[in-house]
Amino acid sequence: MKRKLILDSMCGRLARWLRFLGFDVLYLREADDDVLLSTASETGRVLVTRDEELYERAVKNGIESILLTSVDHVENMSQVLRGLEADVALPPEETRCPLCNSPLLEVGPAEALNFLPSREIARRYGKFWLCDKCGKAYWMGSHWRNIEKILSEVRRNIRER
Ligand SMILES: [Zn+2]
Repeated sequence: MKRKLILDSMCGRLARWLRFLGFDVLYLREADDDVLLSTASETGRVLVTRDEELYERAVKNGIESILLTSVDHVENMSQVLRGLEADVALPPEETRCPLCNSPLLEVGPAEALNFLPSREIARRYGKFWLCDKCGKAYWMGSHWRNIEKILSEVRRNIRER
């Protein structure tokens, strides 16, 4: 079972990526430190933050926390996954909507059609993932190579430590 996470307001991009990797990520853009700490503690989530002071408060209060020390996206992903001792894997049945954190549903072209920008996309790709909460559809389009590239950089980065 994957650990659940809570990310502070400076980690929006990271939140989207971790959801995509199948983590249940709560991302509170407006929350102050007290809310982040109490939510983490009440829900058993690991707090991920760039804020050293917040990190220290979490640790002092017995809340598991990961401090991000880099401005680099790949390095940040590596720090979180190392901290969680998690694999860099993309299990399609676990992936979550990067925007709203809902689990995605794998569907075929016919079911996805109404959610796609064009029929052409339904024809070209066999598999789709739907978010029934925000109505967004995902598929392994041209951006996929870039995703794979970043994930392999993360893998290499984790191995080299
Ligand atoms: Zn969604």
